[in-house]
Amino acid sequence: MNGNHLKICTECGTQYPNDYNNDLCIICKDERQAMPQSGQTWTTHEKLLEKHSVKIKKINEHLYELLVNPGFSIGQRALLILSESGNILWDCIPLLDEGLVEFINTKGGLKAIAFSHPHYYSNMKMWAETFNCTIYIHENDRQWVANGGDFIEYWPGNQLELWDQLKLHNIGGHFEGSSIIEIPWMSENGTLLIGDTMYLSPSMKHFATMRSYPNRIPLPLHEIRRIEKRFEEIQYDTIYGFYPYQNVNNNAKEIVRSSFAAYQ
Ligand SMILES: [Zn+2]
Ligand SMILES: [Zn+2]
Repeated sequence: MNGNHLKICTECGTQYPNDYNNDLCIICKDERQAMPQSGQTWTTHEKLLEKHSVKIKKINEHLYELLVNPGFSIGQRALLILSESGNILWDCIPLLDEGLVEFINTKGGLKAIAFSHPHYYSNMKMWAETFNCTIYIHENDRQWVANGGDFIEYWPGNQLELWDQLKLHNIGGHFEGSSIIEIPWMSENGTLLIGDTMYLSPSMKHFATMRSYPNRIPLPLHEIRRIEKRFEEIQYDTIYGFYPYQNVNNNAKEIVRSSFAAYQ
């Protein structure tokens, strides 16, 4: 696979091109992420393959969760959406092993990879090359792309209609380009995959909306109100978030409403 030898940040999983001369990862030196106290360290896809594989878990007929096992970097998950006119990988993980490539190909391959925000960019170029697919990134996050190649389509504005009623919404907040995908047909009143545009608490009763979750940097109140309004305009009852435990079925809209009501 092309890019097997390229360096990957061990903290966040971002892969860098051959000619990257900076000593530090642009994602981890940003105030929203953190550099380990022991300093920057790197690995490669080749090395990751030695001790890791990808765990595939079925969530429903049209949705699969992909996780690096044992856990690596932020522990983020990617979600594979199976759709009639073409599958979409929602966000990305830094490992692409043979078993996973075969699995995705038996499900019809990938038509696109769409991102919530830069904490998932990983080795997206390797993924796009492998499946010969488009990468959708909101244009407000263009500056955070380290290694995307010619596969990226930067999309502008508030919304982008894809196919089969799938729709991207740029919400902002955590990152200016922070986006979610709406899948109206995945549950009775619609499903949202949100990355960490909002962050579900372990109690499963509250969504936080912050500039940085690990560093606890809040957003201004007017931003919270703006984001609240955006979620109010969309129809949904189900939300899948950043981590595997962040699945909310049936009553997601009520939880989001009561969460925003807590900001006075
Ligand atoms: Zn990093
Ligand atoms: Zn994030």
